[in-house]
Amino acid sequence: MTEPLPPMPEDWRRALAIVAHPDDLEYGCASAVARWTAEGREVAYLLVTRGEAGIDTVEPAKAGPLREREQRASAAVVGVSEVEFLDHEDGIIEYGVRLRRDLAAAIRRHRPELVITLHFGDTWGGRYWNTPDHKAVGRAVLDAAADAGNRWIFPGDGPEPWNGVRWVAVAGADEPTHAVDVGDTLEQGVRSLLEHRAYIEALTDEDPEAYCRSFLEGVTRQAAERFDGRPAVTFRLFER
Ligand SMILES: [Zn+2]
Repeated sequence: MTEPLPPMPEDWRRALAIVAHPDDLEYGCASAVARWTAEGREVAYLLVTRGEAGIDTVEPAKAGPLREREQRASAAVVGVSEVEFLDHEDGIIEYGVRLRRDLAAAIRRHRPELVITLHFGDTWGGRYWNTPDHKAVGRAVLDAAADAGNRWIFPGDGPEPWNGVRWVAVAGADEPTHAVDVGDTLEQGVRSLLEHRAYIEALTDEDPEAYCRSFLEGVTRQAAERFDGRPAVTFRLFER
């Protein structure tokens, strides 16, 4: 597929990015977030877990707080100061009513026009099996964007229904429909990913900065083929 991609919509002010784990947004999406916040838009992050099962050599009781700190630091690099965590268990997030309720409550609280999540298909490009957490969260995000607007679903003492989500954008999707020019913010994306230092040092023997840069340059270079040669981050956009 080499058809050119149109740019993402820009007539919005508030976005909420919802993903399963610390680092999910930094493997690509954060460079786009940096551009949006530089333009004066508000972006908040909601992490469904603290990624406590993500480092083989660090037990969950220590890894959870460590990864929470790394996530807050990586968000700050791209202009995001609101970072919230839900207490679902890393690795065994269940798709279901509890997850939809938690996500709908967050959407009602933040009142975003754009909701962002991560690829939830079975595989990454047909080559790598996706994780059960990504699959559960991505599907629940799309469902909760609608749930949040229905006063009869999850009624109660919480925030008022919010039916203002206009799009859900899925980062890393197999079949992207839109892209964001990150030529000016890729470096911020690299530094944002690099904040997950303990995680990355446990993952690879490569120099952490070289690892982050080569990964993100590779992804954005590939997207550039469909975006007029500009380094880009792609999304599959669902309209509501
Ligand atoms: Zn993940």
